[in-house]
Amino acid sequence: MVLQCDILVVGAGPAGSSAAAAAAGDGVHVLVAERKDVLGVPVRCAEYIPRQLLGQLETDRDFVVQSTRGMRTFLPTGRVKEILAPGLMINRQRFDQALAQKAACSGSNVLTGTRVIGRKEGTVFLKGTDKRVRRVKPKVIIGADGPFSLVGKWMGRRNRHLIPAIQVSATLARSMEWTHVYFDSHIYGGYGWLFPKGKEANVGLGISRGSIWSQPLKTTLARFVHRLEKDGLIRETSWRMTAGWVPAEPVRDVSRGAMLLAGDAAGQTHPLTGAGIAHAVLCGRMAGKWAARAVQANDIALLKGYDREWQDDLGEQLQRAFRKRQKLEKEWDRLEEILPSCWVGFREYYAEP
Ligand SMILES: Cc1cc2nc3c(=O)[nH]c(=O)nc-3n(C[C@H](O)[C@H](O)[C@H](O)COP(=O)(O)OP(=O)(O)OC[C@H]3O[C@@H](n4cnc5c(N)ncnc54)[C@H](O)[C@@H]3O)c2cc1C
Repeated sequence: MVLQCDILVVGAGPAGSSAAAAAAGDGVHVLVAERKDVLGVPVRCAEYIPRQLLGQLETDRDFVVQSTRGMRTFLPTGRVKEILAPGLMINRQRFDQALAQKAACSGSNVLTGTRVIGRKEGTVFLKGTDKRVRRVKPKVIIGADGPFSLVGKWMGRRNRHLIPAIQVSATLARSMEWTHVYFDSHIYGGYGWLFPKGKEANVGLGISRGSIWSQPLKTTLARFVHRLEKDGLIRETSWRMTAGWVPAEPVRDVSRGAMLLAGDAAGQTHPLTGAGIAHAVLCGRMAGKWAARAVQANDIALLKGYDREWQDDLGEQLQRAFRKRQKLEKEWDRLEEILPSCWVGFREYYAEP
């Protein structure tokens, strides 16, 4: 069976659904293929978004769990640095579903339980949970299929630098209005987080890949959880773990022929903080808009406009963060000293290129 569409979007995470909504809203025929049966599940996310993102979303807001005032950064010696940065803790499953709903309402055909498995010449193969293989011949493909993107592989644009992250859920000893970020010599090249979500909290860490063989992630997380318990911040921990990979180096050129990448597939995640939801929404929209333009003008060369636009908006910010990450990893033994110039919670970070 051959399915018809102008644009095939692979993946219905924040990038894919935002791309689909933008393209379908511009009047082209969009098909979204998502391998998960239930959108947004399992959640592999600390569930923080900057408050400004909310104003840019035309969706229901029932995914918001609580507001946060800012971020407290805990240095190895115990020094604490506080910055105001209004944010929101969300229910990520509901968030992803709200964005997909928006894509569907804009006219996209969203197929869940449908994995993109291969491509031959202009034909893409999709496999449903019923094991049936269907074919589609899109004019443009948007790869919004996460850190290990299949579309990125077809394009020869893979994420090179990925950070493993692991998380559990805990009960808070008392409610919190700040997100907490912990730097500790054991959490090499990354940080630990305690993000409040009402009575609960997401507790996790991301760590540079090189170190996980010498010290398993689970051991480092157990040590971190113990510290938070000792500090009287959390009471009980549910050891149901979630884990995932975070791109930590932007892929530079994310359009090739009739294919584009957006979100984690394009390495648009912040290389230091690992925050990727807001960028996935922003760049997904851009990708959808340029793809629709190229289809309507019957001119694939227009897709290059996407690369220019997202690089103008985010390129410098992400490259700077990547340079700082490299410095942080290289000079980890001087963590306390170099952190102000290498972490977004300090003014010095922005003063130095
Ligand atoms: C532990 C952890 C905590 C994080 N915490 C935060 C946070 O607090 N705030 C924040 O901003 N960011 C956070 N991030 C990063 C954030 O989750 C990602 O940047 C964001 O999900 C990127 O969205 P996306 O749409 O590009 O990719 P994804 O959300 O990964 O979506 C990709 C989709 O593509 C689908 N897919 C993949 N392959 C195929 C295929 N072949 N066929 C069909 N479908 C396919 C997947 O099932 C998935 O639904 C965290 C990441 C991790 C791992």
